Amino acid sequence: MKKIAIIGAGPSGVYLAIKLIEANPKIDITIFDKSDPLITLLPTGNKRCNLTYKNDDNIEYAKFYPRGEKFLYSVFKRYSYLDTTEDFEKLGIKTYVQDDLRIFPETNSSSFVRDKLLNKIKNKVKFIKKEIKEPLDNYDYTVLATGLKSGCKLAEKYNIKTIELKPSLTGLKIKEKEFLNLAGVSFNNIIFTDNGVSGPYIYKLSSINAYKKFPYEIKLPLIDDIEKLKEEVKNNPKKQFRSVVSKFIPKSLANVIIKEEKQCANVKKTEIDTLAYLTLTATSTDNKGEIVHAGGVDLGEIDKNFKVKNKNIWVIGELLNIDGLTGGFNLQLCWSSAKIAADDIINKINSDI
Ligand SMILES: Cc1cc2nc3c(=O)[nH]c(=O)nc-3n(C[C@H](O)[C@H](O)[C@H](O)COP(=O)(O)OP(=O)(O)OC[C@H]3O[C@@H](n4cnc5c(N)ncnc54)[C@H](O)[C@@H]3O)c2cc1C
Repeated sequence: MKKIAIIGAGPSGVYLAIKLIEANPKIDITIFDKSDPLITLLPTGNKRCNLTYKNDDNIEYAKFYPRGEKFLYSVFKRYSYLDTTEDFEKLGIKTYVQDDLRIFPETNSSSFVRDKLLNKIKNKVKFIKKEIKEPLDNYDYTVLATGLKSGCKLAEKYNIKTIELKPSLTGLKIKEKEFLNLAGVSFNNIIFTDNGVSGPYIYKLSSINAYKKFPYEIKLPLIDDIEKLKEEVKNNPKKQFRSVVSKFIPKSLANVIIKEEKQCANVKKTEIDTLAYLTLTATSTDNKGEIVHAGGVDLGEIDKNFKVKNKNIWVIGELLNIDGLTGGFNLQLCWSSAKIAADDIINKINSDI
């Protein structure tokens, strides 16, 4: 019997074990983790586990990944969000789609998902609580599912090339001190923090700019309907400009942006146009909001089945140089890469007999 080692019992490693067992219940699997299995699943989606995202167009789906887009076209064709939700339902995890298309378990509980997934592999795999620091001998096939932080070092010990890690999906610190008193004030999916800006819009921006050198300018959408603001200004010539602007954005923010006291009659159209965006200077990432990293195992090292070329090693999940935006995309990468790698391992076992 061929022996399989999975290093990492996060979402990708555990899902891979489930898929292997479904294909062959007698398979010999050992999972190594320095911590308890699926601990990393617990905080996901604010403990609700945003396990995937609904979009039936695989090409559009891949666009939600600032790194890995082209590689993922064929991946989602073979195992999509729909395959995931169907398979989760078979595991006893019914899901629902939120208005914003993010998908959650009906129980809204990541610990429920954890229990269901672990239940499936209970007594069917060996679990060894141990940090793996050197390549393993004695296994026919090895899967690296370690996530990024310690995983890159281990991958390099297996002579697998990695791309430098950078924080992604983070808040950003800003240079402009006058905005730092606005902590908690929000607009357009952006929220001020005590050292900068955060929120879904900023996470996306930080992800797209993960490799950009600081400091850099960020242009944040401020007032969407500038024509309406122009109309209000025109219709209220005696009103303070700042108080009219406050109808469109939080008052405390308007107070910082519009420094000068002036009536609407004295405001030029070009001045109003500048309020479409708020331009700030990002000085560094604020790693408090950190969710994933850009970087990891170079995609040039693996084939379309997540197998390292010329080695009996597979790399899945966050350890890959693929990362998605917020919305369930990073977990979907775990499910898809795990399923495809599991199928490939099963094929390999059958052809190696
Ligand atoms: C707060 C937070 C919320 C998130 N929410 C969401 C969400 O709602 N939706 C979403 O799609 N994504 C979310 N993510 C991202 C998502 O959690 C990750 O993409 C996902 O956990 C990656 O899974 P993985 O199995 O590849 O790696 P990990 O989850 O990192 O698991 C790797 C496992 O390997 C173990 N390990 C590492 N190195 C070694 C070693 N050398 N030896 C032995 N064991 C080792 C670790 O202990 C760990 O258990 C969130 C992330 C965070 C931090």
